[in-house]
Amino acid sequence: MIADPGRPLARSLYLHIPFCDTRCPYCDFAIHIGGDHLHQPYVEAVIRELDWLADSRRPQLGLETVYLGGGTPGLLALPLLEQLLAAVEQRFGIAEGAEVTIEANPSGLTEELARSWLALGINRVSLGVQSLDDRALRWLGRNHDSATAEAALRAAAAAGLENLSCDLIYAIPEQPTSVFASGLRRLLSYQPPHVSCYELTVEPSTALARWVTSGRVLGPKEQDFVEQHRLARELLEEAGLLQYEVSNYARPGSESRHNLAYWQGRHYLAAGCGAHGFIDREAAEGLGFSLSPEDVGVRYWNLRNAATYIKQVTVRGHGRRGHEALDHEQRRLELLACGLRLRAGVELSEPRQLVEADRLAHLGLVTIAGNRVAATPRGIEVLDRVTLELAAS
Ligand code: SF4
Repeated sequence: MIADPGRPLARSLYLHIPFCDTRCPYCDFAIHIGGDHLHQPYVEAVIRELDWLADSRRPQLGLETVYLGGGTPGLLALPLLEQLLAAVEQRFGIAEGAEVTIEANPSGLTEELARSWLALGINRVSLGVQSLDDRALRWLGRNHDSATAEAALRAAAAAGLENLSCDLIYAIPEQPTSVFASGLRRLLSYQPPHVSCYELTVEPSTALARWVTSGRVLGPKEQDFVEQHRLARELLEEAGLLQYEVSNYARPGSESRHNLAYWQGRHYLAAGCGAHGFIDREAAEGLGFSLSPEDVGVRYWNLRNAATYIKQVTVRGHGRRGHEALDHEQRRLELLACGLRLRAGVELSEPRQLVEADRLAHLGLVTIAGNRVAATPRGIEVLDRVTLELAAS
């Protein structure tokens, strides 16, 4: 058995805002290009869906994390953001000291805007820097260059926004490791307290996948994945940002509390097109999901298209497209897979699993402290294998 984080009530809320100026060719998220006229009806639909979700909660304890993801939620006009956050506060309460994050692109982030977000209670910004190399940014099809990204970093600092996270992509084809390294060093000169460093993934239904298949561009190379992942960890840890999750680095105390809720297997609510939520059995029954006796929770997901989502919410009060009920065994496997992504690892209590963990420890793939098992840097490079072997034991 794995210790279940228990606490059934969701204290985290994800809100998906799909709007973007342009579509990056590698992007597989639920997004909507342009469509300013949809912003207001979309926000109203999300608020309506919050009403539906509010039924899933018993006592109102207040949310500990709210995450505005996308898409580019930073494109929403301030009055709409204000309306949305006020609706969240009214329906769920936002706890004192809660982490409230917004995702933003460097283009358009000014000192004034960052100050306005802070005034609305948004205290964390996740900035899509992706690279500080202009050639790589063009390859990625981003709508900003490195000068814009650096101007955004300066604007955030000038506004007094301390809780800043920067997204970075590695293994970009045709970008030598030395160029990736100098970009990362430059980013670190701005001293961000949190960096998310993701490998470039070619998702099947994207323009990038078509280009790679037709030979128009080269795909990412396995050797770059390994080399640049190791290098990123080395440089980031040297700068005091510890790898607390496979792709995430932070100064101690600056970890993303919202994302930790996912990886620690906690429950979370979600609204907006393409959003995924995970709720406990009692909350699911309150929302009308039909469950079998062995189910312990429900993962649900929403329609991806913004316009269809708005229509469905208008008629049915929610944008749900599908759900999956989880029994104890599925939950156990999820907790194991997510927990192993964390530096802190996962607590195991089944003797057979601990024997297997001991074998993996001898191979240098995990460490064991008491019953807590965590992947080593080498283990992280073969994490699927480590997870499968522990799950099968
Ligand atoms: S800005 Fe982000 S969400 Fe928007 S298209 Fe590019 S990768 Fe996708």
